Amino acid sequence: MLRTTFTFGFLVSSTALATETMRIAIGPEVKQARLAGDGLFRGDDDEGARFLPLESPDVTVTRKGGALFVDGSAVSGRAVRFRRGGAIDVNGTRVRGDVVALLGRDGVQLVNVLALEDYLAGVLGSEMPKSFPLEALKAQAVAARTYALHKKLEQYGQPFHLGSSVISQVYGGLASEDPRTREAVEATRGMVLTHQLQPVEAYFHASCGGKTESGAEALGRDLPYLKPVSCPCAKLPQAEWRLELDQRIQVTARSATGRATKVLLDGRPVDAVLLRERIGYMKLKSLWFEVSGKTLSGHGFGHGAGMCQWGAKVLAERGMGYREILGHYYVGTELQTLY
Ligand SMILES: [Zn+2]
Repeated sequence: MLRTTFTFGFLVSSTALATETMRIAIGPEVKQARLAGDGLFRGDDDEGARFLPLESPDVTVTRKGGALFVDGSAVSGRAVRFRRGGAIDVNGTRVRGDVVALLGRDGVQLVNVLALEDYLAGVLGSEMPKSFPLEALKAQAVAARTYALHKKLEQYGQPFHLGSSVISQVYGGLASEDPRTREAVEATRGMVLTHQLQPVEAYFHASCGGKTESGAEALGRDLPYLKPVSCPCAKLPQAEWRLELDQRIQVTARSATGRATKVLLDGRPVDAVLLRERIGYMKLKSLWFEVSGKTLSGHGFGHGAGMCQWGAKVLAERGMGYREILGHYYVGTELQTLY
């Protein structure tokens, strides 16, 4: 109990302004980075560093041998941080906050250091359609914030906490912000889902097909708040799909919710989670399917654990608030305002 309170306090007080920040990797390493914007400043990669103005409105960061170079001049140390009064253009993407160029394995790793709430406003529109009801967007904002803080705790002291790819969460910079995503983030500012006072692993997916899957079956995460719950998304056309396979497939084991866990593919045993990875997540949309010959008829889209986004939409349209929506999908969790 005490340790957890300490963890939360530590997170919030880790910056002088008590603004929770995130370090987000901007794509994979690059050979060369071009940063642009009038009035750029440069300093060390440290919250308390002194920043000095640059004369040029754009800079190029490259790597030669074991060192970083800014406009051809070697940088002492493994990182250099850039700051500006407004957004910075980084290789064509406009981002809020600071940009750090790090000495990567082979090239330059760019990291965006920005306020968590700004990150969320940018990430939300890539995760859930902006047209969804506000209460569903608010639930998504809390889930995304919780997920981000969980990652931050897990990755503390690492060069970055999250990448900006589909594997973690999609961050498209300023271009992905929208008044509705901003409103959903503002309305839930600092709110985090907790279990025993720790931020939970707030997984989510597009549509479960009528019943969510346990964290243990879907992701190998046996957590008390990731239990199967019923969901109203089953009647939506988005929840149904068909797929023709070239191979013969037979389901040999299913989870309690009916999702395939083991299959025979042309007679060879394959773990169902690996099958989805092999066929492709976009083609084999979920593991909840029936087989007829070489045709699969399936339900839902995604791993099925945690919050179902299309289900959240239906619940919001029925008048449910974001607190109740979150309580429905993350069983037994508590909503806490962290800052
Ligand atoms: Zn659902």
